[in-house]
Amino acid sequence: MIIIMQTQATSDQIQSVEDEIQRIGLRPFMNPGVERKVIAVLGALDAKKADLVEHFYSFPGVDRVDLISHLWKLASREYHPEDTIVDVCGVKIGGVQVVVSAGPCSVESEEQMIEIALAVKASGAHLIRGGAFKPRTSPYAFQGLGEEGLKILAKARDESGLPVVTEVMDTHDVELVAEYADVLQIGTRNMQNYSLLKRVGQTRHPVLLKRGQGCKLRDQVMSAEYIIAEGNPNVILCERGITTFEDSTRNTTDINAVPVLKQWTHLPVMVDPSHATGDWRYVSSVSKAAVAAGADGLLVEVHNDPKRALSDGPQSLRPEQFDDLMRQLRRVAEAVDRTV
Ligand code: PEP
Ligand code: MN
Repeated sequence: MIIIMQTQATSDQIQSVEDEIQRIGLRPFMNPGVERKVIAVLGALDAKKADLVEHFYSFPGVDRVDLISHLWKLASREYHPEDTIVDVCGVKIGGVQVVVSAGPCSVESEEQMIEIALAVKASGAHLIRGGAFKPRTSPYAFQGLGEEGLKILAKARDESGLPVVTEVMDTHDVELVAEYADVLQIGTRNMQNYSLLKRVGQTRHPVLLKRGQGCKLRDQVMSAEYIIAEGNPNVILCERGITTFEDSTRNTTDINAVPVLKQWTHLPVMVDPSHATGDWRYVSSVSKAAVAAGADGLLVEVHNDPKRALSDGPQSLRPEQFDDLMRQLRRVAEAVDRTV
């Protein structure tokens, strides 16, 4: 349920609605910074719902009371009609500019990371990516450099001036990763790790929430709701391909996810064409499709020597291929009234 206050509602009127929500054992959550105050009512409403609508209508200053049909509230467009713009050290995700984050799957060494960071910056990337904590299917595969990898990412940020996106896998590492990262990535395998979602929700760091490989969009939005309900509104959703019966590519890109998520929520939506296809030969096509479909950003794996990459070499673009992609993306973006 959301309560939409009249534009001229006084702060006393807003306060008395909030007090009443609390008195009946529910939690008010105010959408800050917008002209018209909207109060989301959180908690188990269940059978009381219909009565409460009537009840709150009678409060002075209340314009409308809506029962939101979705299970999510704070992520919904009804609660927050304007697009959310997530600010990552001045890079705005969710505005006119399509934001491109590029870099290797894993941080492997300082030379590798800095070389790639400078190359993608020269091509026009806005953020760098690279994993220091790697979720690998096999326990014998390269697991990432851990804190050393984070330090290398910080150096690459200093050298390139580009903010860093990197994955955090464990609640115990959130503080450490947040010291170095500008965006905390939640990987596909952890999309429904609710303890981790709550923990990143307690920071104010932007969170890139990847879709679970076998999860519906509604589950992804519920996961975003966990983060926002802890007080962190800086959530970016990321489509990274899902498991389907089709096995010609590593995953199947659900392009539909872009317009659907943009309709249901106010959150920025990015697409990761690298994991979605698993094959560098398809990354450019799917990147362009994503921008044409309205994606607010891309997460692209780029490696200076894909054959020797310690993870995801087959889906990594070489820097010159990434440069070509960026040139083409500028034209696709222009066709849909965006910039890159
Ligand atoms: C990654 O971005 O390198 C990664 C592991 O992604 P995902 O969680 O989508 O597989
Ligand atoms: Mn990867």
